[in-house]
Amino acid sequence: MKYVGAHVSASGGVENAPGNAHEIGAKAFALFTKNQRQWFSNPLTEINIRLFKENCKKFGYDASHILPHDSYLINLGNPGKGPLEQSRKSFFDEMKRCELLGLKLLNFHPGAHLKLATEEESIALIGESINMALEKTKGVTAVIENTAGQGSAIGYKFEHLKQIIDLVDDKKRVGVCLDTCHTFTSGYDISTEKGYKETFNEFEKIVGFRYLRGIHLNDSKKALGSRVDRHESIGTGLIGEDCFKWIMNDSRFDNIPIILETPDETLWSKEISWLYSLVTRNA
Ligand SMILES: [Zn+2]
Ligand SMILES: [Zn+2]
Repeated sequence: MKYVGAHVSASGGVENAPGNAHEIGAKAFALFTKNQRQWFSNPLTEINIRLFKENCKKFGYDASHILPHDSYLINLGNPGKGPLEQSRKSFFDEMKRCELLGLKLLNFHPGAHLKLATEEESIALIGESINMALEKTKGVTAVIENTAGQGSAIGYKFEHLKQIIDLVDDKKRVGVCLDTCHTFTSGYDISTEKGYKETFNEFEKIVGFRYLRGIHLNDSKKALGSRVDRHESIGTGLIGEDCFKWIMNDSRFDNIPIILETPDETLWSKEISWLYSLVTRNA
């Protein structure tokens, strides 16, 4: 079974996200549990937490199909001591918020070395950062997203994801999220049938589907291997419709949140129903 949704607004409070997801016919959703452009936000209140849980239940969303995303400011691979410390504090706060909301996953971009360290050094910091957050929280899995590899970002190769996982002590609480746009622009050609097969065989070999906790489903404005991250609406970018058809009929993507982060949110409900219309496989 496929659980397709979108990264919906939580404006006015996290408790509004489940209703926003329901309105567009989503079976899964992503959200920010705080302002994504700030290091810290007001703590969640008892009321936020209670209403969030009530609304998830009311609209039928299970925590395993909800994929919260952390703040864009956090860089767990930053070699600068002060900034790294701040990122770690903020990341812990994000994990804790998920724990309070009864959520199981926290999706984040691994980080960037900012040309102040090598990729290996930055990866070591990311692994250490994840361990620190997992030690102080319960029940929430750290979900590393692959990246387009823009600037000095880590995570544009499956090998990076594997190297980070290897450094994490509690393997049960580490996972990955694959973004189709990032996968494509980082150089994996999922737009052709041959490339699709090779890419996901390689993913299985290097990381393993057992670590896959979510998908970001985006088409791409930018070319294969461009290492630029610009999402496009499904089927209208350079990845094209076929890839999404294959994903919707690929059992390796069953039972995980499949989240649209496409730029035109007025299209989300259409995109979701179009994606479901592609399913031909007998479930
Ligand atoms: Zn993404
Ligand atoms: Zn992106």
